Amino acid sequence: ARRMLVAGNWKMHGLGADLGEVTMISMAAEKNRRVDTALCMPATLLHRAAAAAPGFDIGGQDVHPEKGGAHTGEISVDMIKDAGGALTIVGHSERREACGQSDGDIAARAAAALSGGLHVILCVGESLDVREAGNAVERVTSQLKASLPADPDPNRLAIAYEPIWAIGTGKVAGPEEIGEMHSALRGALSESLGAECADKVRILYGGSVNGDNAETIFAVDNVDGALVGGASLSAAKFVPIIEAAS
Ligand code: 13P
Repeated sequence: ARRMLVAGNWKMHGLGADLGEVTMISMAAEKNRRVDTALCMPATLLHRAAAAAPGFDIGGQDVHPEKGGAHTGEISVDMIKDAGGALTIVGHSERREACGQSDGDIAARAAAALSGGLHVILCVGESLDVREAGNAVERVTSQLKASLPADPDPNRLAIAYEPIWAIGTGKVAGPEEIGEMHSALRGALSESLGAECADKVRILYGGSVNGDNAETIFAVDNVDGALVGGASLSAAKFVPIIEAAS
Protein backbone atom coordinates (compact mmCIF):
# COMPACT_ATOMS: atom_id res chain seq x y z
CA ALA A 1 0.00 0.00 0.00
CA ARG A 2 1.11 3.53 -0.72
CA ARG A 3 1.86 5.85 2.20
CA MET A 4 -0.17 9.04 2.26
CA LEU A 5 1.67 12.28 1.46
CA VAL A 6 0.34 15.63 2.67
CA ALA A 7 2.36 18.49 1.21
CA GLY A 8 1.87 22.22 1.62
CA ASN A 9 2.61 24.83 -1.03
CA TRP A 10 3.20 28.24 0.49
CA LYS A 11 3.27 29.92 -2.96
CA MET A 12 4.29 33.62 -2.62
CA HIS A 13 3.57 33.73 1.11
CA GLY A 14 5.79 33.71 4.16
CA LEU A 15 8.41 35.84 5.89
CA GLY A 16 10.89 35.00 8.61
CA ALA A 17 8.20 35.83 11.17
CA ASP A 18 6.13 32.90 9.92
CA LEU A 19 8.78 30.23 10.57
CA GLY A 20 7.17 29.36 13.90
CA GLU A 21 4.32 27.81 11.89
CA VAL A 22 6.84 25.61 10.07
CA THR A 23 8.24 24.42 13.40
CA MET A 24 4.77 23.70 14.79
CA ILE A 25 3.76 21.82 11.64
CA SER A 26 6.96 19.75 11.79
CA MET A 27 6.28 18.86 15.42
CA ALA A 28 2.76 17.68 14.58
CA ALA A 29 4.18 15.70 11.63
CA GLU A 30 6.55 13.96 14.01
CA LYS A 31 3.53 12.68 15.93
CA ASN A 32 1.83 11.40 12.75
CA ARG A 33 4.58 9.21 11.36
CA ARG A 34 2.19 7.08 9.30
CA VAL A 35 1.87 10.03 6.92
CA ASP A 36 4.63 11.65 4.86
CA THR A 37 4.57 15.42 5.12
CA ALA A 38 6.38 18.31 3.46
CA LEU A 39 6.21 22.07 2.95
CA CYS A 40 7.20 23.73 -0.34
CA MET A 41 8.51 27.16 0.54
CA PRO A 42 9.37 30.36 -1.33
CA ALA A 43 13.09 30.33 -2.20
CA THR A 44 13.90 32.99 0.40
CA LEU A 45 12.70 30.72 3.21
CA LEU A 46 14.05 27.35 2.05
CA HIS A 47 17.18 27.40 4.15
CA ARG A 48 15.60 28.93 7.23
CA ALA A 49 12.60 26.60 7.06
CA ALA A 50 14.92 23.58 6.86
CA ALA A 51 16.75 24.88 9.95
CA ALA A 52 13.49 25.61 11.78
CA ALA A 53 12.22 22.05 11.20
CA PRO A 54 15.03 19.51 11.52
CA GLY A 55 14.13 16.12 10.08
CA PHE A 56 11.09 17.53 8.28
CA ASP A 57 10.97 17.68 4.46
CA ILE A 58 11.22 21.15 2.96
CA GLY A 59 10.92 21.72 -0.77
CA GLY A 60 10.98 24.26 -3.58
CA GLN A 61 8.06 25.28 -5.78
CA ASP A 62 9.79 24.84 -9.15
CA VAL A 63 13.27 23.99 -10.42
CA HIS A 64 15.23 24.75 -13.59
CA PRO A 65 16.39 21.81 -15.74
CA GLU A 66 19.95 23.16 -16.12
CA LYS A 67 22.78 23.01 -13.57
CA GLY A 68 23.35 26.76 -13.72
CA GLY A 69 23.63 29.67 -16.13
CA ALA A 70 22.01 32.88 -17.24
CA HIS A 71 18.47 32.16 -16.04
CA THR A 72 17.32 35.17 -14.06
CA GLY A 73 14.77 34.36 -11.40
CA GLU A 74 15.21 30.58 -11.61
CA ILE A 75 16.51 28.10 -9.03
CA SER A 76 18.58 24.95 -9.66
CA VAL A 77 18.42 21.44 -8.19
CA ASP A 78 21.76 22.00 -6.43
CA MET A 79 20.51 25.28 -4.92
CA ILE A 80 17.45 23.56 -3.44
CA LYS A 81 19.62 20.75 -2.04
CA ASP A 82 22.23 23.20 -0.75
CA ALA A 83 19.49 25.07 1.13
CA GLY A 84 18.38 21.85 2.80
CA GLY A 85 15.51 21.00 0.44
CA ALA A 86 14.48 17.41 -0.26
CA LEU A 87 11.79 17.89 -2.89
CA THR A 88 10.26 20.25 -5.39
CA ILE A 89 6.98 20.90 -7.11
CA VAL A 90 7.07 21.09 -10.92
CA GLY A 91 4.34 21.96 -13.41
CA HIS A 92 2.08 23.91 -11.06
CA SER A 93 -0.66 25.57 -13.12
CA GLU A 94 0.43 28.98 -11.81
CA ARG A 95 3.95 28.34 -13.22
CA ARG A 96 2.67 26.79 -16.44
CA GLU A 97 0.62 29.94 -16.98
CA ALA A 98 2.94 32.69 -15.72
CA CYS A 99 6.05 31.30 -17.46
CA GLY A 100 4.51 29.63 -20.50
CA GLN A 101 5.97 26.27 -19.47
CA SER A 102 5.12 23.46 -21.89
CA ASP A 103 4.63 19.81 -20.93
CA GLY A 104 8.10 19.15 -22.36
CA ASP A 105 9.65 21.87 -20.15
CA ILE A 106 8.01 20.26 -17.14
CA ALA A 107 9.25 16.79 -18.04
CA ALA A 108 12.79 18.23 -18.26
CA ARG A 109 12.42 19.93 -14.87
CA ALA A 110 11.14 16.73 -13.28
CA ALA A 111 13.95 14.68 -14.86
CA ALA A 112 16.62 17.07 -13.56
CA ALA A 113 15.15 17.06 -10.05
CA LEU A 114 14.92 13.25 -9.91
CA SER A 115 18.40 12.69 -11.29
CA GLY A 116 19.72 15.19 -8.73
CA GLY A 117 18.15 13.16 -5.93
CA LEU A 118 15.11 15.28 -5.10
CA HIS A 119 11.58 13.99 -4.70
CA VAL A 120 9.15 15.53 -7.20
CA ILE A 121 5.49 16.53 -7.07
CA LEU A 122 4.37 16.93 -10.70
CA CYS A 123 1.11 18.88 -11.11
CA VAL A 124 -1.55 18.47 -13.76
CA GLY A 125 -5.09 19.81 -14.01
CA GLU A 126 -7.73 21.22 -16.32
CA SER A 127 -9.34 24.65 -16.65
CA LEU A 128 -13.04 25.26 -16.08
CA ASP A 129 -13.65 25.48 -19.87
CA VAL A 130 -12.19 22.04 -20.40
CA ARG A 131 -14.17 20.59 -17.48
CA GLU A 132 -17.42 22.09 -18.75
CA ALA A 133 -16.76 20.84 -22.27
CA GLY A 134 -16.53 17.31 -20.86
CA ASN A 135 -12.88 16.89 -21.86
CA ALA A 136 -11.20 16.90 -18.44
CA VAL A 137 -10.11 13.25 -18.25
CA GLU A 138 -8.80 13.19 -21.81
CA ARG A 139 -6.94 16.51 -21.36
CA VAL A 140 -5.38 15.75 -18.01
CA THR A 141 -4.26 12.21 -18.85
CA SER A 142 -2.56 13.43 -22.02
CA GLN A 143 -1.03 16.34 -20.08
CA LEU A 144 0.39 13.82 -17.60
CA LYS A 145 1.81 11.53 -20.29
CA ALA A 146 3.51 14.50 -21.99
CA SER A 147 4.89 15.88 -18.69
CA LEU A 148 6.35 12.62 -17.33
CA PRO A 149 10.13 12.26 -17.30
CA ALA A 150 11.60 9.08 -18.79
CA ASP A 151 12.14 6.18 -16.35
CA PRO A 152 11.28 8.03 -13.14
CA ASP A 153 11.97 6.50 -9.73
CA PRO A 154 8.35 5.83 -8.68
CA ASN A 155 9.26 6.12 -4.99
CA ARG A 156 10.36 9.72 -5.49
CA LEU A 157 7.61 10.84 -7.87
CA ALA A 158 4.13 12.00 -6.89
CA ILE A 159 1.48 13.40 -9.21
CA ALA A 160 -0.83 16.16 -8.00
CA TYR A 161 -4.19 16.50 -9.72
CA GLU A 162 -5.15 20.13 -9.26
CA PRO A 163 -8.20 21.29 -11.22
CA ILE A 164 -7.48 24.97 -11.91
CA TRP A 165 -11.08 25.95 -11.08
CA ALA A 166 -10.66 24.48 -7.59
CA ILE A 167 -7.42 26.27 -6.69
CA GLY A 168 -7.93 29.02 -4.13
CA THR A 169 -11.62 29.23 -4.95
CA GLY A 170 -13.14 27.27 -2.06
CA LYS A 171 -14.74 25.15 -4.78
CA VAL A 172 -13.47 21.62 -4.21
CA ALA A 173 -13.90 18.87 -6.82
CA GLY A 174 -16.50 16.27 -5.82
CA PRO A 175 -15.45 12.78 -4.71
CA GLU A 176 -16.78 11.32 -7.96
CA GLU A 177 -14.85 13.77 -10.12
CA ILE A 178 -11.71 13.11 -8.09
CA GLY A 179 -12.18 9.33 -8.19
CA GLU A 180 -12.75 9.28 -11.93
CA MET A 181 -9.68 11.44 -12.60
CA HIS A 182 -7.33 9.64 -10.20
CA SER A 183 -8.25 6.26 -11.61
CA ALA A 184 -7.69 7.57 -15.16
CA LEU A 185 -4.32 9.00 -14.06
CA ARG A 186 -3.33 5.63 -12.55
CA GLY A 187 -4.22 4.07 -15.90
CA ALA A 188 -2.16 6.65 -17.80
CA LEU A 189 0.81 6.01 -15.49
CA SER A 190 0.43 2.31 -16.11
CA GLU A 191 0.44 2.81 -19.90
CA SER A 192 3.54 5.01 -19.71
CA LEU A 193 5.57 3.29 -16.98
CA GLY A 194 4.13 -0.21 -16.62
CA ALA A 195 1.70 -1.39 -13.97
CA GLU A 196 4.27 -2.22 -11.30
CA CYS A 197 5.89 1.20 -11.42
CA ALA A 198 2.54 3.01 -11.72
CA ASP A 199 1.29 1.30 -8.58
CA LYS A 200 4.04 2.95 -6.51
CA VAL A 201 3.48 6.55 -7.68
CA ARG A 202 1.35 8.58 -5.31
CA ILE A 203 -1.47 10.66 -6.77
CA LEU A 204 -2.38 13.68 -4.64
CA TYR A 205 -5.44 15.89 -4.95
CA GLY A 206 -5.06 19.68 -4.72
CA GLY A 207 -7.60 22.50 -4.79
CA SER A 208 -9.30 24.04 -1.75
CA VAL A 209 -8.42 21.13 0.58
CA ASN A 210 -9.09 21.98 4.22
CA GLY A 211 -9.61 20.32 7.58
CA ASP A 212 -13.33 19.88 6.91
CA ASN A 213 -13.17 18.19 3.50
CA ALA A 214 -9.87 16.27 3.78
CA GLU A 215 -11.34 13.09 5.23
CA THR A 216 -13.89 12.71 2.41
CA ILE A 217 -11.20 13.32 -0.21
CA PHE A 218 -8.74 10.87 1.38
CA ALA A 219 -11.42 8.16 1.36
CA VAL A 220 -11.56 8.25 -2.45
CA ASP A 221 -9.83 5.38 -4.30
CA ASN A 222 -6.40 6.27 -5.70
CA VAL A 223 -6.12 9.41 -3.58
CA ASP A 224 -2.76 9.12 -1.83
CA GLY A 225 -2.67 12.51 -0.15
CA ALA A 226 -3.04 16.20 -0.87
CA LEU A 227 -1.19 19.26 -2.11
CA VAL A 228 -2.50 22.11 -0.01
CA GLY A 229 -2.19 25.84 -0.66
CA GLY A 230 -3.96 28.29 1.64
CA ALA A 231 -4.62 25.81 4.43
CA SER A 232 -0.91 24.94 4.70
CA LEU A 233 0.09 28.42 5.89
CA SER A 234 -0.68 27.80 9.54
CA ALA A 235 -0.39 24.83 11.87
CA ALA A 236 -3.98 25.42 13.03
CA LYS A 237 -5.27 24.76 9.49
CA PHE A 238 -2.68 22.29 8.19
CA VAL A 239 -2.36 19.87 11.11
CA PRO A 240 -6.01 18.70 10.89
CA ILE A 241 -5.34 17.72 7.26
CA ILE A 242 -2.27 15.70 8.31
CA GLU A 243 -4.38 14.06 11.01
CA ALA A 244 -7.15 13.25 8.54
CA ALA A 245 -4.58 11.31 6.49
CA SER A 246 -3.29 9.21 9.37
P1 13P B 1 -5.46 25.98 -2.42
O1 13P B 1 -5.35 24.84 -1.43
O2 13P B 1 -5.18 27.31 -1.80
O3 13P B 1 -6.69 25.90 -3.23
O4 13P B 1 -4.21 25.77 -3.45
C1 13P B 1 -4.05 24.55 -4.06
C2 13P B 1 -2.74 24.55 -4.76
O5 13P B 1 -2.58 25.17 -5.80
C3 13P B 1 -1.63 23.81 -4.14
O6 13P B 1 -0.54 23.73 -5.01
